[in-house]
Amino acid sequence: MISKIDHLGIAVRSIDEALAYYQSVLGLTCEGREEVPSQMVKTAFFAVGEVHIELLEPTSDDSPIAKFLVKNGPGIHHIAYATDDIHGQLSQAKESGARLIHEIPFEGAGDKLVAFLHPKCSFGVLTEFCQAKH
Ligand code: ZN
Repeated sequence: MISKIDHLGIAVRSIDEALAYYQSVLGLTCEGREEVPSQMVKTAFFAVGEVHIELLEPTSDDSPIAKFLVKNGPGIHHIAYATDDIHGQLSQAKESGARLIHEIPFEGAGDKLVAFLHPKCSFGVLTEFCQAKH
């Protein structure tokens, strides 16, 4: 079951450049930075209450984030919903007619299992499911 919005993913060309906005303008504290090699991205997380902001910077031109930046420029990339059963969530989405990008969850940032639904089936908003591993 979906319990809350876990985070909003925001594509940026440079986390170092974007940090100034989140830290100085908004006064948020960076909770951690992490590279996710399978997605060819670097991430930085900020807590805003229970919801997090996840900045995503591509580490390769082949990264999905690099392609997003070419097409759209920087901006909101995805909404991530926390679930306590990512496999069940994916089955339910598939049975209900959604297109899955990932049938099998993979290891994302923050020690979580993650998987995405295709934005073409979710009214233009890339949807992520994520489940804490512990
Ligand atoms: Zn995410």
